[in-house]
Amino acid sequence: MKVLVVNAGSSSLKFQLMDPETAEVMAKGLCERIGIDGSMTFEAHGEKIKEEIAMPTHVEAMTAVLETLTGPKGVIQSMDEIDAVGHRVVHGGEIYTESVLIDDEVKEAIKKCSPLSPLHNPANLMGIEACEKAMPGKPMVAVFDTAFHQTMPAKAFMYALPYDCYEKYSVRRYGFHGTSHRYVSQIAAETVGKPIEDLKIVTCHLGNGSSITAVDGGKSVDTSMGLTPLAGVPMGTRCGDIDPAILRYLHQQNPDLDFDDLDRIMNKESGVYGISGVSSDFRDLDKAIEEGNERARLAVDMFCYQVKKYIGAYAAAMGGVDVIVFTAGVGENGSNIREQVLEGLEFLGLNLDEEKNKERGKVNIISTPDSKVKVVVVPTDEELVIAQDTRALAKDLI
Ligand code: ADP
Repeated sequence: MKVLVVNAGSSSLKFQLMDPETAEVMAKGLCERIGIDGSMTFEAHGEKIKEEIAMPTHVEAMTAVLETLTGPKGVIQSMDEIDAVGHRVVHGGEIYTESVLIDDEVKEAIKKCSPLSPLHNPANLMGIEACEKAMPGKPMVAVFDTAFHQTMPAKAFMYALPYDCYEKYSVRRYGFHGTSHRYVSQIAAETVGKPIEDLKIVTCHLGNGSSITAVDGGKSVDTSMGLTPLAGVPMGTRCGDIDPAILRYLHQQNPDLDFDDLDRIMNKESGVYGISGVSSDFRDLDKAIEEGNERARLAVDMFCYQVKKYIGAYAAAMGGVDVIVFTAGVGENGSNIREQVLEGLEFLGLNLDEEKNKERGKVNIISTPDSKVKVVVVPTDEELVIAQDTRALAKDLI
């Protein structure tokens, strides 16, 4: 079976053609600068090409993807070989607790959730509509970032604001990166050889955006991101949790700063970038630290401290922790970050194997054999989960 996985952003469209059963990726790529001019990076047969292609909208981007997939450098003869399409959709609100076959009702629901994710949902919908236009009648599935977290109990997802804010405006914690947390918790359970139903797991998705999730018996029971992906630990450029009164205070100090400015500051100018003044990329921070940059040191210290605090909080919330999982760019590669996050957690019964912690690029238990808490690195694969969910829902329609 061949599934096209699509992740549409406001001016970009990532794609992968893959076999959900073998996890083989036949081709992948990225359309960028949609609505501006347009370019496509395309990788297949071990070769990478980049082309400038006019892409006034996502429809032209999708057409370019299909033409390249079926063209001389492509991997299929015709688009009939694509059995189904899986779409990443950021926000499914309280409506979707799992992936779903896309029909008009689903598209309407995705639109309805757009105020909760104004940058992502409209773009995801554009990707869906572009595919419909290019491949009418092809089965399509929506896989939501929020769905895995819909098992959180009310005491974890409610904010202590007037109840009206929830009832009238749907203000609550939704959580994100759900596809990744679901996947890595499952793989970690398999790796330690125990049924996920019997495990208390803390999953740390540490990338450009970072979130920590408490997974009890295979279900998300709490997560660090909130109504939006701004909450939780400090990230590349996002501030994470701050005292909400800071916004009013900053506006009082500088009335020129309106809500849009504050939003930009919190989303794009904060996090480890805002603190260090160097970069949002942890590799650059490592270099700066080596050169003696104190603010880069502080940024990394703050990040690791907050991740550690979430691990402790979630161990308390679940009444223990059996497995801690690290994934995404920083979680998979940053051995020094992992070491710093876990330092001092020996009281939980955790012992890090320093040599194993230096290995990278594979599923790996990096705690010592006698460690009561297992620490596992799992490279995340959100595309594979999207392809597998798509297969499960679409296989009877093909
Ligand atoms: P996104 O949230 O955009 O999907 P990723 O999960 O790809 O992000 O993570 C990207 C981040 O991973 C980079 O910004 C960088 O900080 C970090 N990263 C990548 N490689 C390394 C490395 N070798 N050491 C430390 N951090 C790394």
